[in-house]
Amino acid sequence: MTIEMLTPSQAASKLTAAHISAGRVKAMHVTAGVGLVQGPAKGVVLSDLDGNTYIDCRSAGGVFNLGHAREEIAEAIANAVADTDMGDWMLLSGIRASTAQKLASYAPDGLDYVQFAVTGSEAVEVACKLARGTTGRQTIITMEKAYHGFSGFSLATAPASITAPYGPLTPGILPMPHGDLAVVEAAIDGKTAAILLETVQGSAGVILPPEGYLRGLRALCDKYGIMLIFDEVQAGLGRTGKLFSFENWGVVPDMVVIGKALGGGYYPISACIYNARVLDFVNDHPLAHPSTFSGSEIGCVVAQKSLELLSDPELLDNVMAMGAKLAAGYQALLDRFPRILRGYRQIGLFTGIDTASSEIGKQLRHAAVRNGLISFTAPFRPEFLQIWPPLTITAAEIDELLLRLGHAVQEASETTI
Ligand code: PMP
Repeated sequence: MTIEMLTPSQAASKLTAAHISAGRVKAMHVTAGVGLVQGPAKGVVLSDLDGNTYIDCRSAGGVFNLGHAREEIAEAIANAVADTDMGDWMLLSGIRASTAQKLASYAPDGLDYVQFAVTGSEAVEVACKLARGTTGRQTIITMEKAYHGFSGFSLATAPASITAPYGPLTPGILPMPHGDLAVVEAAIDGKTAAILLETVQGSAGVILPPEGYLRGLRALCDKYGIMLIFDEVQAGLGRTGKLFSFENWGVVPDMVVIGKALGGGYYPISACIYNARVLDFVNDHPLAHPSTFSGSEIGCVVAQKSLELLSDPELLDNVMAMGAKLAAGYQALLDRFPRILRGYRQIGLFTGIDTASSEIGKQLRHAAVRNGLISFTAPFRPEFLQIWPPLTITAAEIDELLLRLGHAVQEASETTI
């Protein structure tokens, strides 16, 4: 009889293959080159089940903006759980109301009303429903290479590489090339309900809006009575150095969708914050979104504490300073490795580097993990390595990150001749 000696990570991978999906395991181990199985995590550091440690440069897309296992969030939950559970979504709730008030107080004037949800996708569904309901029109203009989620409306906005097996998709979604105002205006007609976009496109590789673009979209929406919806599930809640990313451009939408970091790394909660244009519809359809777990009371406890921590000016200053430090480090790498690196993009700690090809991107992704960094290439720009650490990262941790990245780039340059 042979006894199989497996490390804890190997054992967990085997179990995953047997009871979740072998394809899922293969996708992580072979394709992504990120076969580690996550173990304990604290701050910016994540360990795998075998005890290896990594700097988390993914933050699960923004879930861990406050770092892993943040004490203040854990304490808030511990203090609440003795007498607070999820609550009944149907009944009115004091903590839900005060969480909505808190969100409205952080948002610009006008964005005063909130519908909570559980996931980012669900909050996008809310926004699209409210836009159609309010305007009585159907078409939702979106941007190519957008990612808004995995269900209904949001899925229908994704590139064909994702949606192909699932058609027919929700009709009425009209993707446009990102950044071209004239093309958007030409597409607007009497059926246009909304323009939905990420203020900074994440899955496309940290694509900033061109100068004047968001302001131009705002003007088009005002001119034609269209709802402007910003998806800040990734870009929001401090990632760009502002609590709301749209503050960088001084343009206020009719609705903004947030998620991920609102749950403080502990509990899923998301929200669609909207203005008075939507009120008549919501008042007439008060149960337009009867979602069992939306705005759960324990989730609201977490969201309130997360918002307090995420809006701390010291944290937002740190995002700006550490983002600038990363950018300087990327520039030094570009100077050292001009053959395989092409550039970088950065706003706050929404950052990453462009390599010369998707093959080099893949090699760099694999080398990054070997050197103790968890980072992925952008789903819709495979030559771009996304680097989105927790916003709490310190200068010493940035130095360590850059050192490891330098080693990874060196390795990638040796494997791609
Ligand atoms: N919008 C954006 C910009 C996202 O990045 C994501 C998820 N990565 C979503 C929406 C969907 O969020 P969720 O996965 O929580 O449904």
